[in-house]
Amino acid sequence: MEKKVSKIGVLTSGGDAPGMNAAIRAVVRTGLYYGLDVFGIMRGYAGMIENDIFKMETRSVANIIQRGGTILKTARCKEFFEPAGRKKAYENLKKLGINGLVIIGGDGSFRGAQIFSNEYDIPCIGLPGTIDKDIAGTDFTIGFDTAVNTAVEAIDKIRDTADAHDRLFIIEVMGRDSGYIALHSGIATGAENILIPERITDINEVIDSLQEKEKRKKLVNLLVVAEGSELGGANEIAKVLKEKMPNADIKVCILGHIQRGGSPSCLDRLIASRMGYAAVECLMTGKDVNTMIGIVNNQLHYTPLDQAVKAEQTIDYEWLKIVKILAS
Ligand code: ADP
Repeated sequence: MEKKVSKIGVLTSGGDAPGMNAAIRAVVRTGLYYGLDVFGIMRGYAGMIENDIFKMETRSVANIIQRGGTILKTARCKEFFEPAGRKKAYENLKKLGINGLVIIGGDGSFRGAQIFSNEYDIPCIGLPGTIDKDIAGTDFTIGFDTAVNTAVEAIDKIRDTADAHDRLFIIEVMGRDSGYIALHSGIATGAENILIPERITDINEVIDSLQEKEKRKKLVNLLVVAEGSELGGANEIAKVLKEKMPNADIKVCILGHIQRGGSPSCLDRLIASRMGYAAVECLMTGKDVNTMIGIVNNQLHYTPLDQAVKAEQTIDYEWLKIVKILAS
């Protein structure tokens, strides 16, 4: 294969997600397979600016495919928003001869990569690493499947205790701007209702439905709420419900950061491996550079970085109808 690059850098940036290590491993091993030098850049764009960059070998990524977190660490870096910060980063890469970059992160990281690749002659490839699944141009993001399965496991446990006491549980899952974890985990655990940022929920409708169930003695109910839901997080919703349903035994559970950790699921390892491999192929051939690699209908899909950062995935509202029907 004709080589357009000889030395590539890989970094993880922004919010962490399980499966990032599997992606790093795929980039490193594919790069080495094709005879490239591969460099690990620590703490996202911060490491690029601070020259915290090291050469990686096959053994550098041994025994990490099953580990959560990211061996390269991740960070948010204010300096990279400034032209002076990006210039410093470029000079460090230039000194090492790095002429291709793989950025594993979310839409913020891609925005940074897009600006950087417009300013300097270093092609960038983005890999969607985020538990939120809030990026257009891909059916999957690295980390979502693991996070949602962690939520499902936790909610199943909550259902056991809710059932023992006839309680209404309001469970808050991650998702400041995106309702995918709430939607998928809520459907998979038989939630009564799912509250997400993308859709305005009429709280009176939720109350009517719960009261109707109370009358029918259906006393175990789970509401799954995304942290950024239109009506607020679980605590805010509990406050409203307690006022309107004084007899109900209402509890709140906020799942929090456990959703970010843990060993990546098989699906996350698979997509991370496939995307990491494809990223190096793009840099090698010079084809489809400055894109984000996604998977759509089981095919690799390349979205220009500027489009990947603009569009969001849209929720199929039919799922919410299914929730209502199945929770009767
Ligand atoms: P995520 O990638 O998970 O969406 P952030 O939005 O925090 O996370 O972005 C990660 C990092 O990407 C930022 O800390 C910054 O270094 C870089 N970045 C984001 N937006 C821009 C931008 N408009 N210009 C330059 N760098 C950016």
